[in-house]
Amino acid sequence: MNVSDSQRTASALEKLGYTSIERAEQADVIVLNTCVVRQSAEDRALGRLYSLRKLKEKNPGLVINLMGCLVGYKDNHPLQEKLPFVDVFSPPSDPTPLLQYLQRKNDQEVFQQDKLKMNAYLDGELPLPENEIGKTFSAHIPVVYGCSFACTYCIIPYRRGSEQSRPMEDILSEAASLANQGVREITLLGQIVDRYGLDLPGKPDLPLLLNELHRINGLERIRFLTSHPNWMTPELIDTVSKLPKVCEHIEVPTQAGNNEVLRRMKRGYTAEDYRQLVQLLRDRIEGVSIATDIIVGFPGETEAQFMDTYNLMEELQMDVAHLARYSTRPGTVAARHYVDDVSEQEKMRRFRMLENLQAEISTRIHQRMLHQTVEVLIDEKHKMQWKGRTRTNKLVFINSEENLLGKIVSSRIIRTGTWSMRGELI
Ligand code: SAH
Repeated sequence: MNVSDSQRTASALEKLGYTSIERAEQADVIVLNTCVVRQSAEDRALGRLYSLRKLKEKNPGLVINLMGCLVGYKDNHPLQEKLPFVDVFSPPSDPTPLLQYLQRKNDQEVFQQDKLKMNAYLDGELPLPENEIGKTFSAHIPVVYGCSFACTYCIIPYRRGSEQSRPMEDILSEAASLANQGVREITLLGQIVDRYGLDLPGKPDLPLLLNELHRINGLERIRFLTSHPNWMTPELIDTVSKLPKVCEHIEVPTQAGNNEVLRRMKRGYTAEDYRQLVQLLRDRIEGVSIATDIIVGFPGETEAQFMDTYNLMEELQMDVAHLARYSTRPGTVAARHYVDDVSEQEKMRRFRMLENLQAEISTRIHQRMLHQTVEVLIDEKHKMQWKGRTRTNKLVFINSEENLLGKIVSSRIIRTGTWSMRGELI
């Protein structure tokens, strides 16, 4: 979601005539987009921000924009007082405060007879050739903003506000225009993406949206994330299996494998429910790959409860597991009602255990793909190799003299590792 917010901000700035540059030291405007889902992310954001302050001291004309979940969607006066060197504060997903600020600033400077310079600046004297302006073949489209579900550990609803689906026409016209610009793959985004539309008049839903998107010429792949197990309906599952462009890759976090922990997380399902869901996905969607998120060291998590998570992971053999150590977040139910009583050391031990387990599982899953032919969408050149993803979201590197950027190629897997594979062109 943050990547998508940043890309949207970048393209809004490009429309104003700005071009993106590699080094912060040379910028007129710096946007720092922030995540606070864990304390470590928040610390990193603040550390980065304080290092930017030095640039501002050297160059008082520099505009610093702090964006995202550190700011939150409500007016944040304490933060503004604490950070006087920040010129603009923007909530998640919304570059408007920055755009308005720049417009005002530029108007003033033009008024101060700095006309020539500002015009040049605004017009963007050296527009980059089209394909270098962050040309992407794979784009993110937010379809649900915010979240109203309030898992007890999670700060997102407090910072991104309540759940709000985008009207279907907006999404369809954005997808069509992206397809026109050469985008081949779209990923629909929402904190609980499978709740898409439930808050809209007429209740269009994700299966309907997928069906409509499927008709857009030029789009080859459609993905969506993140799903909540409770809204992964049989209808949605059948839609994924039926529509060829919708990729057989599902991100559906379990978070924990113990029912008492799940209850205190307020996830609204049991380990058995989750197990059944995974079975259903595998029965109905041929070749499906499934990714999960796991939190270790939730308040009160005992060794036995953790082992339930470990055993579930071992049993289910998921393709990917995004692992996190529990981090207390201000304002959440868990922060108010539970004691963060699993030591950092113990959280780390549990984290490493799952990490090792998942590494073995992923290695084995990849090994089974050796010599298979897969379809890869190449989206980047990385250290002289082409990098892309299979429909199941697996990372493949390919050597080739040909320019493969933006192409969907057939590739035979010739080597496999834990996190990626090597393929050759067919
Ligand atoms: N709404 C999405 C994404 C939430 S943030 C979802 O439900 O999947 C991504 C992941 O961060 C979550 O799935 C969870 O595993 C992790 N996470 C969220 N809050 C956390 C916290 N307080 N401590 C540790 N991990 C957390």
